[in-house]
Amino acid sequence: MEAGREGQVFTYANPDGLTVGVGDLVQVPLQGRRHAGLVLACLQTLPEGLADKRMRAVETVLQSAAVNGSWQALLLAVATACHTSRFRTLKSALPPGWLGQRPRGPGGRLLCQISRVESQLPAPDLQAELSCRQRALLDHLDRLGGRRLLRDLLAVDGFGRGLITALEAKGLVRREQVRGSPATRTPPLGQPPAPPIVLEEPRIANAAQAAAVEAIDTAAAGSTLLLWGVTGAGKTEVYLQAAARQLRQGRSVLLLVPEIGLIPQLLDRCRARFGPQVLEYHSGMGDAERVTAWRRCLDAAAAAEPMVAIGTRSAIFLPLAPLGLIVLDEEHDTSYKQESPMPCYHARDVAQRRASLDGARLVLGSATPSLETWLRCRQPEVEGGIRLLRLPERIGQRPLPPVRLVDMRLEFAEGHRRLISRPLMGRLEQLQARGEQAVVLVPRRGYRSFLSCRSCGEAVQCPNCDVALTVHRSSHRGAAATEWLRCHWCDHRQEIAQRCGKCGSTAFKPFGAGTQRVMEQLAAELEGLRLLRFDQDTTRGRDGHRRLLERFAAGEADVLVGTQMLAKGMDLPRVTLAAVLAADGLLHRPDLRSSEHCLQLLLQLAGRAGRGELPGEVLVQTYSPEHPVIRHLVDGRYERFLEEELQLRRQAGLVPFSRACLLRLAGPSASATATAATSLVERVRAQVEREGWMVIGPAPAPVAKVAGRSRWQVLLHGPAATALPLPPEAELRRILPQNVSLAIDPDPLQL
Ligand code: ADP
Ligand code: ZN
Ligand code: ZN
Repeated sequence: MEAGREGQVFTYANPDGLTVGVGDLVQVPLQGRRHAGLVLACLQTLPEGLADKRMRAVETVLQSAAVNGSWQALLLAVATACHTSRFRTLKSALPPGWLGQRPRGPGGRLLCQISRVESQLPAPDLQAELSCRQRALLDHLDRLGGRRLLRDLLAVDGFGRGLITALEAKGLVRREQVRGSPATRTPPLGQPPAPPIVLEEPRIANAAQAAAVEAIDTAAAGSTLLLWGVTGAGKTEVYLQAAARQLRQGRSVLLLVPEIGLIPQLLDRCRARFGPQVLEYHSGMGDAERVTAWRRCLDAAAAAEPMVAIGTRSAIFLPLAPLGLIVLDEEHDTSYKQESPMPCYHARDVAQRRASLDGARLVLGSATPSLETWLRCRQPEVEGGIRLLRLPERIGQRPLPPVRLVDMRLEFAEGHRRLISRPLMGRLEQLQARGEQAVVLVPRRGYRSFLSCRSCGEAVQCPNCDVALTVHRSSHRGAAATEWLRCHWCDHRQEIAQRCGKCGSTAFKPFGAGTQRVMEQLAAELEGLRLLRFDQDTTRGRDGHRRLLERFAAGEADVLVGTQMLAKGMDLPRVTLAAVLAADGLLHRPDLRSSEHCLQLLLQLAGRAGRGELPGEVLVQTYSPEHPVIRHLVDGRYERFLEEELQLRRQAGLVPFSRACLLRLAGPSASATATAATSLVERVRAQVEREGWMVIGPAPAPVAKVAGRSRWQVLLHGPAATALPLPPEAELRRILPQNVSLAIDPDPLQL
């Protein structure tokens, strides 16, 4: 079995009375502590050299047959490709907490349970008195029949202790002691009681959809296809019909989306189509729930009952078997890449490996495929090639919305200095009368609200990180609005200073425009326009995205103002206008892929408009209308962009015509980290250069400090399709001091 920090393989004895098999998750003693590990092999005779040692014994089986043979092969392949141990990979692949868990102690321990107390106040008064989180907790308890163990509320459902104390003080919940026997244990939170399921009939596929479904169905086991459909072309319907065919043949299906926010919509559609054989798996779920989902997959596999699992990146490891189809929707999305902890894997690569190991088909879906995928599509015959399926038109032959630019330099020259240009204002004014809706993107990067000094230019920095703090404000009904500063990297919060710490000036003003400032300006200038905000702050919690989108879909607001999340996947028929406030915040980034990612984002956003009967329009405000990305956006020729970009990269010998690997180090101080990075480079340089690679760095990372830790990086650059020229991970770690961490990122997305 495999366990421990360094990820070595250890041998344990199998005590009498315990049945242990390959693929079991077991608990073992190691270095004075208990650890969980995976059984890799059962030996009949001891290997040489071990015989005389006194072996320790396996203590218990935590989960028998947690993984099967092809899963273990996948584990090994991913660990090798990511240059790390199977143990680290296992930790990322299994539900969190599973490897660290202890077996359940004997029953009868006293546990604290939180129960609901009926309020004396009339409902409207009560609602007014509660914060949004407090209301969420009460709703949650109500859904679960009014009580739940404190432990589960904290660890599984993610509520805070302070919240519970506050509700206790209001007399709305009560603490009780209960015996911790299995009978009193509250059930792990599955889904909230589902409404009775009425199965939905599949839609009648159009010709392109039908051809795609057929092609997926008849594709060779282990092959990969790209479903390239313009936004609104009906890709989801293709996934569902292809999935249905697999289920009929007794095979399971895995549907991956890049973000939690996209799960509810897909989950609803799958439940309506396939009924109860659908499950979800993502980081928005508690640890216990994720273990439950994993076990459900195992049970289904044992019972030969096909399932549909919907999840984010880590769901690629769910133990579904036999697996017939994997779908990676929005395959170009960077959220599929895990940056830390190791293994730094890309779900697309894992999916391809899994498809070939399990004999499944892999479908990559996108309106804006990544350059890497496109390159492989151009060579469908070579190994790793991808077959291209196109959905060239929107459903019902609806036109793609035209893109209109607003040159902000002209706006400025004509004396109009608002965030929102006159043309955009004009369009927003007409929305309500027409019964239409708009989405407005406020690019997160570069356009947050910073607090900066007008005299010396200093922005207020986070004390722990190398970034400026952003301004947040909350206004509860009735109460005065409060403002504070917050760090998006480490969540540090502090009060707003009145005076510049550097020069003492009092001319302190927020700079740039966060979603909140845009909301305020819109509210001030367009009275009566109903607004909703869609960003990290307003979509917290398990159902945050869904609730907000439901409110918008139900017509509670005319405009949805939000960050990048807005662009992804939502299908709202009354949205006729998609606007970008400051495209420039996205254009000028020093990254190899910034053009590609920016164009993908803008095209995706454009794709939100005009999906229903009403024609749509896209309005982009920018100071750089001649920028190539903006030009490609306007003429909508993404394929031409890909070709040009491929050409550029080929000439310059850049990724994907070469390979890169990033070594990321973090340590307690800049000097300690720099020293460690230098000794790492000394250690690897000879091998790297011998194998035809180059070392670039060490250099401070783009954000050189996060949460008080200094960050340095070393870039390795070498020929395409060659192995990383590095000694084993454990050997590299030995060079580094204990307090300096290392992540090896093969094929990093950010360069
Ligand atoms: P995409 O994912 O390609 O952007 P969707 O799958 O969300 O597009 O489909 C766009 C809209 O068209 C959805 O509202 C969907 O229900 C509808 N739709 C898809 N296929 C059909 C069809 N064959 N007939 C009628 N409506 C369809
Ligand atoms: Zn100053
Ligand atoms: Zn910080």
